[in-house]
Amino acid sequence: MRSSLAIALAISMTAAGSAVWAQNAQTPAPAAASAKCDNPNALGVARVVQIDTTGGPGFGFEHFKAYDFLQDKEVVLTFDDGPWPGNTERVLKALADECTKAIFFTIGKHAGWHPEILKKVAAAGQTIGTHTWSHKDLTPMTFEEGKAEIEKGIAAVSVSLGNKPVDPFFRFPALRHPPELMKYLAERNVGIFSTDMDSFDFKMRKPDQVVASVMKKLEKHGKGIVLMHDFQHATADAASDLLKKLKAGGYKVVQVVGKTKIEPIKEYTDAVLKEMGGGLDEARPMSSVIQTIGGSSN
Ligand SMILES: [Zn+2]
Repeated sequence: MRSSLAIALAISMTAAGSAVWAQNAQTPAPAAASAKCDNPNALGVARVVQIDTTGGPGFGFEHFKAYDFLQDKEVVLTFDDGPWPGNTERVLKALADECTKAIFFTIGKHAGWHPEILKKVAAAGQTIGTHTWSHKDLTPMTFEEGKAEIEKGIAAVSVSLGNKPVDPFFRFPALRHPPELMKYLAERNVGIFSTDMDSFDFKMRKPDQVVASVMKKLEKHGKGIVLMHDFQHATADAASDLLKKLKAGGYKVVQVVGKTKIEPIKEYTDAVLKEMGGGLDEARPMSSVIQTIGGSSN
């Protein structure tokens, strides 16, 4: 166990003051997070936790036990593998309806294909971590290959958001953590998220199963970082019901923000732009490029 001093050095906690997000002079407001909440019964954000990612601290008891920063009944919601048309937007709507926040661990290629969706995630004041360029298992790769997967993921998110710096959080695909890449992320001052509980939502087809899985695991653990996928259809359908059940169960959402952002490295930004064929920023939603204008309904 680490001392509470070590925890205090890495994490500064900021109480938002009420169950519903409230503007607080002492809270460093993330972009757009200060939007008014119209739902008086919303799940809301109980607390905003700002993480200083210097030295690459790890979170999530499946792999990292140094920082036990959640109190009983506190939950950090995380959604992986987006942005994805429809699904990510349904998760965003559910979060907005409940005036609450999550971390989205996005795949670089998906960000490049759907920059307009990632911009919506950012505009909603959600935290956007990265999850590599192409979601491959990094363990069999050389160090340089693994580093490129990480950096191209960061670069793609940056470019997709209009060349903005990126929130300093990363999750390894399949939660497989090569030691040399952990060391690299530490030097890069990127915080690493494992999880406290994996919903295994990617194995589920029905929204009810996703809700039941998360609630059952939370009952067992009492609190924790929950791994889900906004990429998954069933999860997107489950999000609204899940948030209502969390509220009814007395759980409280903790919003996680970084103390500083990270800048992409030019070499990898260039590589990403080249692979995506020019400028990600110029990518348009498919519906604006291709429309069905005739034919039979079959
Ligand atoms: Zn993933």
